[in-house]
Amino acid sequence: MDAVLFRNGLVLTMDDAHTVLPGADVLVVGGRIAEVGVGLTAPPGATEIDATGGIVMPGMIDTHRHLWQTAMRGYGADWTLTQYFVWYYLESGRHFRPEDIYAGNVLGALEALDAGVTTTVDWSHGLQTPQHADAAADALESVPGRFVLAYGNIQQGPWEWATSPGFRDFVERRMRGRLGFQMAFDVTGDPAFPERAAFEVARELDVPVTTHAGVWGATNDDGIRLMHEHGFMTPSTIYVHAATLSGDSYQRIAATGGSVSVSTESEQSAGQGYPPTWQLRDHGIPVSLSMDTSVWWSGDLFSAMRATLGADRSREHLQAHGRAETVTHVHLRAEQVVDWATRGGSRALGLDGVVGSLQPGRAADVVLLRNDNSPVMFPILNPYGHVAFQAQRGDVHTVLVDGRIVKRDHKLVGVDLGKARADVERTVEHLIAIMGPDAWQKGMNPDIPATKILDNPYTYTEWTNT
Ligand SMILES: [Zn+2]
Repeated sequence: MDAVLFRNGLVLTMDDAHTVLPGADVLVVGGRIAEVGVGLTAPPGATEIDATGGIVMPGMIDTHRHLWQTAMRGYGADWTLTQYFVWYYLESGRHFRPEDIYAGNVLGALEALDAGVTTTVDWSHGLQTPQHADAAADALESVPGRFVLAYGNIQQGPWEWATSPGFRDFVERRMRGRLGFQMAFDVTGDPAFPERAAFEVARELDVPVTTHAGVWGATNDDGIRLMHEHGFMTPSTIYVHAATLSGDSYQRIAATGGSVSVSTESEQSAGQGYPPTWQLRDHGIPVSLSMDTSVWWSGDLFSAMRATLGADRSREHLQAHGRAETVTHVHLRAEQVVDWATRGGSRALGLDGVVGSLQPGRAADVVLLRNDNSPVMFPILNPYGHVAFQAQRGDVHTVLVDGRIVKRDHKLVGVDLGKARADVERTVEHLIAIMGPDAWQKGMNPDIPATKILDNPYTYTEWTNT
């Protein structure tokens, strides 16, 4: 059995007690955590990894990412949600061929592993045909991470694709393999509730549904109410964003045991609504974190943790200042967002007994943050604060998935980045060719609304503009 021993690290176990062990070892044998403690004995032939000066933690879990869009990395940096919808849903999303889905998925999956994200839900809503779906699954199976394929198709109603023979055939061929499986679709609030047919398929297949809920201008309380009234809100349901909902909808989510995937960077830039952690805290709704899509920002949960702390605290201060009060103690702690980035994800996905913590018997999805060349990696005084506010992708030294080393000494192992790059370049060439170079450029550079400079009564008299 292959064994790996992390030696002498600061270990964040993320067990129920959030046990932190300084100067400790983590022993991995045969793909599982065998032991966590001080001064462990390495079995013969074990690979020893020096974790001195570093933090050993569970692999992080992203519960909502549109991996196929990674081929357009950064293209939509200045988009709003409206511009995103127009580009993908109305105008250009249909131009993606199966090989383009494959290219984006491989690149996004590698990006996740590189950042210590060992489990990713691929919210794959570009699956126009079963061939697209096979390409998505092939890509995920070619990368040594843990992935959940959340099957979706924005070019059809869910009641259409979910009941099609092609979808059924795909499920029979591929659903019981290595990949986890969900169904991904949104509920528009149409009183006729046409999404019922898709929910019934999910129930029959016994797979979770993940849905963009509480998205300003797109989905609202009606969708939640319809799901609830028809009995389709379950503990395995993941509500993405859930940023613009009434108290009534949050109560329905809380009462049915579902969880919310918060994509703070997305909610802040695109405009789904204010990142809802303050509401979720009040209603006792479980939280996981997600990065949504690399068409805006890169897929690492360090950003998610940092942005989520900032948004929650920023709002808390702003609200208090509006009441002429001062916040002396913030509600949201660094420890909480590290929990959301690990256990939050494992709980949301029904994988809490498998991943999300470093405990004997759990699958060995392990991350070592260590960077001897970085002045930001010492001193490590507050471990959770360090993970959430100091560390970043470049500090991810080693990553294990199922006990297999997939990144070591800051480099992905056994990965053909050159091929991933060439595949993505072909996708970009295809999109430019089909749209035309002008439309391609214009899509990336939306018009800026005019700003009215306010009259300023404090005029300078002795300064001249030369
Ligand atoms: Zn999304």
